[in-house]
Amino acid sequence: MHSAALAELGLGGEWSYEAIDVAPDAFERRVRAMPGEGFVGANVTVPHKGAALALADEISETAREIGAANTLLFAAGEVRAENTDAAGLLRSLPGPVADRRALVLGAGGAARAVVWGLLREGAEVAVWNRTELRSRNLCEELGGEPVSAPAQADYELIVNSTAVGLGDEDTFAELPLDPGGFAAGQVVVDLVYGAEPTALLRAAGAAGATVIDGIEVLVQQGARSLEIWTARPPPLETMRAAARA
Ligand code: NAP
Repeated sequence: MHSAALAELGLGGEWSYEAIDVAPDAFERRVRAMPGEGFVGANVTVPHKGAALALADEISETAREIGAANTLLFAAGEVRAENTDAAGLLRSLPGPVADRRALVLGAGGAARAVVWGLLREGAEVAVWNRTELRSRNLCEELGGEPVSAPAQADYELIVNSTAVGLGDEDTFAELPLDPGGFAAGQVVVDLVYGAEPTALLRAAGAAGATVIDGIEVLVQQGARSLEIWTARPPPLETMRAAARA
């Protein structure tokens, strides 16, 4: 996705996007060496999103409040930390969410960014999580209302931010949703991504709901990171096509 975007921007000869595997105890040393090696920035993923925040010299308000960074920019001798997951989710939605009733499933790292972003845009947010203590803690910290038995039809927006759908578990046994309980007019987002639509999106789509998959959210958060590194408008269509290929 990023390689295709860099080529489209005419930066393909000079820039490259590389995957670097790093163990937690080597993370800070690795990141600190990167500017000297010519890197302008990095994406950071699990399990380093908290460590990325801890080592940064400058932290955006978004990353600080979410409590995790997924994007680093190396500039003027500093490491700057940002989180583009919330913007990625918001940009993938079909319209504004102010005063909309939203149900977020999950209370992990992805859910934190989703809840923060939706609240920031004025949505009314309910949070369900398998381990209720985590959703209660998340809501105490960020806002939103923990719910243990959400009424599916009450929500205009439903976002799956759990890992359910990644494996071969039964989605509708694990999540508090009924496959027949979706309606046209609802927007259903599944952050889980793969080559095929998830069971959640298949059921929601069959009921006429607007469905948004995890690849779209991935593309949107990646596009925002690319914009931070290059200060250029990201070529979204190119990124989308590359991610889907
Ligand atoms: P995480 O911090 O490990 O959180 C995992 C969440 O999934 C927790 O809320 C956990 O509940 C829940 N969960 C796991 N197995 C479950 C099950 N069998 N039944 C019910 N709940 C279950 O992971 P994360 O970083 O938030 O990521 C969550 C998902 O979002 C992953 O699939 C990831 O790939 C995806 N993601 C996508 C994007 C994107 O751009 N599309 C961005 C970020 C993440 P408990 O608290 O009860 O364990």
